[in-house]
Amino acid sequence: MTDTIDAQEAAPVFTVPQERKIVTAVPGPKSQELHERRRAVVSDGVSSALPVYIERANGAILVDVDGNRFVDFGAGIGVTTIGHTEASVVAAAAGQLQDVIHTLFTITPYEEYVRVAELLAERTPGDWAKKSVLVNSGAEAVENGVKIARKFTGRRAVAVLDHAYHGRTNLTMAMNYKAHPYATGYGPFAGDVYHAPNSYPYRDGLSGEDAAARTIAYLEKVVGATDLACLVVEPIQGEGGFVVPADGFLPTLQAWCTEHGVVMIADEIQSGMARTGRWYASEHFGWEPDLVLSAKGIAGGLPLAAVTGRAEIMDASQPGGLGGTFGGNPVACAAAVAVFESIEANGLLAEAERIERTLTTGLERLRERYDVIGDIRGKGAMVAIELVQPGTRDTTKQPNPEAVSSLIAYAAQHGVLFLNAGTWGNVLRFLPSLAVGDELIDDALRVLDDGFAALG
Ligand SMILES: *Cc1c(COP(=O)(O)O)cnc(C)c1O
Repeated sequence: MTDTIDAQEAAPVFTVPQERKIVTAVPGPKSQELHERRRAVVSDGVSSALPVYIERANGAILVDVDGNRFVDFGAGIGVTTIGHTEASVVAAAAGQLQDVIHTLFTITPYEEYVRVAELLAERTPGDWAKKSVLVNSGAEAVENGVKIARKFTGRRAVAVLDHAYHGRTNLTMAMNYKAHPYATGYGPFAGDVYHAPNSYPYRDGLSGEDAAARTIAYLEKVVGATDLACLVVEPIQGEGGFVVPADGFLPTLQAWCTEHGVVMIADEIQSGMARTGRWYASEHFGWEPDLVLSAKGIAGGLPLAAVTGRAEIMDASQPGGLGGTFGGNPVACAAAVAVFESIEANGLLAEAERIERTLTTGLERLRERYDVIGDIRGKGAMVAIELVQPGTRDTTKQPNPEAVSSLIAYAAQHGVLFLNAGTWGNVLRFLPSLAVGDELIDDALRVLDDGFAALG
């Protein structure tokens, strides 16, 4: 009996029906009107994947100004991981708004910042003393991770992997793999950034150890370990197409970094915070990074990011060297504490595993019927399919970005929001909130099935 009551209390209460419903053209008339207003005043450099203007969001559903309800498989690119307008996040942020909105931690501090740093020290991989600095965005976390590593090592060079994405600031533009659209025309870029081969099992067929040997050989030849401050790696690459490295790749790189005094940094901005069924995706690979970057999912939709890592590395910076006006804002920190607590209290790591099972089972069935599905990969609620040209699945694996675009457009018309990814734009990614139920997933997969059929 107690169990029943607990189960009822634990069940999420949704303020928006968790069902898709399309009542107008997509985009509808009100969205089109807003889009006209926007075109007059918002820079063309800011694009929108689907220009439907959102009025409300809850759980896994977005409601637009025309009353259309979309099943959201993007979650603001993995930000609203525990669900849109999740009740505990809303309550924590609203409460904090009443108490204190801003002081600036580097002038007069407050507990919420300290609490987030405690939770990060506890939840990031590695059983050693850890410290954090809080900032505003993923790119800012990357910038600070590099800055901290350079200070600690006294070295200049930064290494990243092929197919990586790290942000849109000057340094991070230089760290991305793809020039277009992120870097085109925005140079000159930061120097001393080196792009090394990654592990891409679907396309390189290498074991983790062999892929790591290739990466290390490249770094030793092109940079030299003694000049290398840090190697920044996404344990599962996000924008690059949810590329999951072969087992052994990450720990082998970490061992090499440790041996040569290189700081290895996990960019867990997209893959962290319960997204993959672990607190941090590094755990899937037995990787314990020196520094871990958190952002997207950390505060339920409020802007917050962090660099967390070995205390001796984090403390190499002089007082005043790290920080910023809005970094670790009290409202964002209060929301983050609620996110950590909600993941724990609601068993959300297991929800991510459930989502992986339901999604991959459905996608395997589609793969049997549609030969443009080349690869299915990912962990937890971070799953993708890589699409190839018909007839090339077992041979040249020619990227098929047209199919991805068509499927996304078809799904949007039918009330499902999917995102693309991948260096060639040929990856369809599933990045739902952990609140998405199996029925919604199956419903979205039926829409996807129809979309494949419509490809002809
Ligand atoms: C989104 C993302 C970033 C950049 O974060 P912003 O908050 O957009 O600056 C960096 N790294 C990864 C892996 C990301 O997914």
